[in-house]
Amino acid sequence: MSQKTDLDLAKLSWFQNNAFVRQFIEQAWDYFCTFDVHGNLTYASKSFGQVVGFIPQDFQQIVDFIDSEYRMDLYKMFIKALQTNRSNKLEFRAKSANEACIWLECTAIPIRNEQGELAEISFVLHDITLRKNQESQLVAMAFHDALTGLPNRRLFKDHLQQMLVQSKQTNRAFALLYLDIDDFKVVNDTMGHDVGDAFLQEFAQRIQGCLREVDMFARMGGDEFTIILPTVDCEEHVSSVAERIIQCVEQPWEVQGQIFRSTVSMGITMCHSGVADAATLLKEVDTALYQVKGKGRNHYQFFRK
Ligand code: GH3
Ligand code: MG
Repeated sequence: MSQKTDLDLAKLSWFQNNAFVRQFIEQAWDYFCTFDVHGNLTYASKSFGQVVGFIPQDFQQIVDFIDSEYRMDLYKMFIKALQTNRSNKLEFRAKSANEACIWLECTAIPIRNEQGELAEISFVLHDITLRKNQESQLVAMAFHDALTGLPNRRLFKDHLQQMLVQSKQTNRAFALLYLDIDDFKVVNDTMGHDVGDAFLQEFAQRIQGCLREVDMFARMGGDEFTIILPTVDCEEHVSSVAERIIQCVEQPWEVQGQIFRSTVSMGITMCHSGVADAATLLKEVDTALYQVKGKGRNHYQFFRK
């Protein structure tokens, strides 16, 4: 099997005879490679070798080069181009020659010879890494709070739904805690909104330090936060987490040169093997929180029917 790079392009008549095609391929920002119907390489552009890091001998080496989750789709794409005789597209992720993660949009184009027979499948690869990174940033922004970087209400609700399903399957309880900073308006009113913002950021970090990695901590909006403690066996365990949070928030704060004290109130509910739905659980923690606020704040309370 002969391997052709741009170095022996002269042997390819279609490349040699057509100045337009030659200039187009040599100067394009996309990468090109072609295979015969058996999957043997017939041509790869110089740019292709630079990005991928090698010139493949056959189509299988391209399949091996990309991330495993896209391999079957790329293989199917080749077969589809052969069978339907029509071009088709696929987006996939791969590791480039310099080990960076790249996203490529690949178009497979069936090429016929002068007799009208299917002779080659040509692949045009277009770098879409920038767009893909921007898309994933947008997705992350849609599910995270811009001020604290915590999961937002939307992601919290998704997670709560998952917890309800999981708890039904495993027959294990989880706890939902709803936090609301006490007299937060005073921070804004006396020290300004910027200090209020910075306080919310530091508050988020301090609380995160009281939790395990498996616990979910989200900002619902304003000075309201939620925590989901998965797989808790008893209320004592949840109480100890709540007490740790209360004590942690009671420690003096120094935010943007302002020293002050703050407290937090919490409503808590236990969810046993998915007996309640998300809306009910949120009502329960809200009721318990309301009771804590009414009793003078800086405390937690479990919801009781
Ligand atoms: P309570 O003890 O009853 O919770 O009273 P509170 O003063 O904490 O007031 P409440 O929880 O009802 O309201 C929270 C305030 O937080 C209202 C709003 O002005 C302020 N706030 C909401 N979002 C932001 C934000 O992103 N940054 C800042 N600095 N303030 C915010
Ligand atoms: Mg508040």
